[in-house]
Amino acid sequence: MDREALAQRYAAVKAGIPDGVLLVAVSKLRSAEEVQALYDLGHRDFGENYPQELREKQAVLPEDIRWHFIGHLQRNKVKYLAPFVHLIHGVDSEKALDEIDKRAAQNDRTIDALLQVHIAREETKHGLSDRELNDLMAAWTETRWPNVRVRGLMGMASLTKDGSVIRNEFDGLAGRFSDLQERMAFGGEVFDILSMGMSGDMDLAIAAGSNLVRIGTAIFGERPG
Ligand SMILES: *Cc1c(COP(=O)(O)O)cnc(C)c1O
Repeated sequence: MDREALAQRYAAVKAGIPDGVLLVAVSKLRSAEEVQALYDLGHRDFGENYPQELREKQAVLPEDIRWHFIGHLQRNKVKYLAPFVHLIHGVDSEKALDEIDKRAAQNDRTIDALLQVHIAREETKHGLSDRELNDLMAAWTETRWPNVRVRGLMGMASLTKDGSVIRNEFDGLAGRFSDLQERMAFGGEVFDILSMGMSGDMDLAIAAGSNLVRIGTAIFGERPG
């Protein structure tokens, strides 16, 4: 591993991120050693997509790392994440909230989560449609998921080089986010995180109002495999 190159890429990425925007370093498929190297540069927020890989790294890496789960959430894996996860980004069903709530209670914790909204053109099973988001909001009550705090929204833009498409999608999600904030969504608890932007579209996301970007390639280089 080239620590020098890592430090340079990390500095370059950080230079493009204004105050108030959290940088989550996406370390999926990178070694624990690479995570440790970025940790040694002072970084603490890391994002992982696969529960098994996340558990293995969490077990050997420093305890004060804040682990973000950014992958697609399978309900039967929530129990492995519940003891330590800092923020679950990809929640897209009431059943997922039920499971997080249950596992949070078993671990004597409150778990923070984001609702994933489907904004891209690509067909995918992941993320709530507008209608599903409305339905979920309607299902929310003060006592429904007492051990989950819904902190905000997460979305991924289309895989395209057309910046105007991406900008539109991010604007749409930001609009949704401020709507929900104004309506004092989820009991008026802190609803303050808008997770959007990856290596290829970080600048567009920040311009549209993102306050959390998930960056892998631009920090660690091309992913293996
Ligand atoms: C892999 C991944 C990222 C990081 O992607 P890069 O293009 O490497 O920055 C961000 N968000 C999610 C949900 C991912 O799966």
